[in-house]
Amino acid sequence: MLVVCEFADGGLAAVSAELLSRARPLADELGGSVAALIAGDGLDRAIEDAATFGADLELVADDPRLNTGLAADCTDLEIADWTRRGHTYKRFLHQVRPAMGSSVLATCVCPETRPQMASVLPGVFSSAPAPRNAHVESVAVDLLPDDLVVTVIDREVQHSDTKLSDAPIVVAGGAGCSADNWHLVEELAAPLGGRVAASRAAVEAGRSERALQVGQIGTTVKPDLYVACGVSGAFQHVIGMRPAKTVVAMNRDPDATIFQFAHYGVVGDVADTLPRQIVALRSP
Ligand SMILES: Cc1cc2nc3c(=O)[nH]c(=O)nc-3n(C[C@H](O)[C@H](O)[C@H](O)COP(=O)(O)OP(=O)(O)OC[C@H]3O[C@@H](n4cnc5c(N)ncnc54)[C@H](O)[C@@H]3O)c2cc1C
Repeated sequence: MLVVCEFADGGLAAVSAELLSRARPLADELGGSVAALIAGDGLDRAIEDAATFGADLELVADDPRLNTGLAADCTDLEIADWTRRGHTYKRFLHQVRPAMGSSVLATCVCPETRPQMASVLPGVFSSAPAPRNAHVESVAVDLLPDDLVVTVIDREVQHSDTKLSDAPIVVAGGAGCSADNWHLVEELAAPLGGRVAASRAAVEAGRSERALQVGQIGTTVKPDLYVACGVSGAFQHVIGMRPAKTVVAMNRDPDATIFQFAHYGVVGDVADTLPRQIVALRSP
């Protein structure tokens, strides 16, 4: 069993000690051994800790360049100063990402170690041409056959004409739109010339394909008009539609969170409100 260990405050992070402690009896049950992978800088105490908590083998990568962090799934990146305890760190990367069960947006900083690393979900930023005479440098790849741990057996691409992230009008359906009502979302989008999108709950209920999910692990949209039908307004959804210029929400619950983000709201059952909107839009 291999435990990829986390290094914290000069020693092994508590969670790594916990994982090693769990791996030990599991490995014993299988008649195997426990290996600990430890990467970082100045690992002496972590090496001792790993042996204490049951590692038979320690794979140690001790290098100052490894002592850094990565903020994953960022929703924004900025260069700014940061002051702590009277010291100002000048012009470095602010990595903004949802935290604490996505209930808040946290700004992560990595002031003392390098590199500063962040990953970003697709659709969070807009692409904008900025042509340069780029210097092209080849990077030598030195892989042995055993290094290739993943083999691509097949590639299946789902083609869609939907470029959701650039659509000027988006009509999104949520769990409040049942299988019987989903056609109403599509019928509302048609006369508006809008793209149909969905919340995660609607995707998981099989109403829509995953490529049309808006939100933290879906697409970020920035339309002129976003219509949310039967969407509650969970933070993870809102994060993907916040750049919309005008938001219209339809929900039967007058206290639904989505209304806090809407410019216009319609309280009512989508089975009732959507047909009325469709008729109004279709009438000359
Ligand atoms: C790590 C993580 C990432 C996530 N990423 C995403 C993401 O990318 N996108 C996303 O959408 N979610 C995401 N979620 C899930 C998110 O937390 C919510 O669960 C989800 O957005 C809820 O979808 P919903 O609003 O459609 O459903 P619900 O929260 O179930 O809300 C349904 C709404 O419809 C209303 N309603 C019900 N019936 C009717 C009716 N007949 N007429 C009118 N209104 C009605 C209800 O009042 C309710 O407000 C993520 C969650 C996690 C933990």
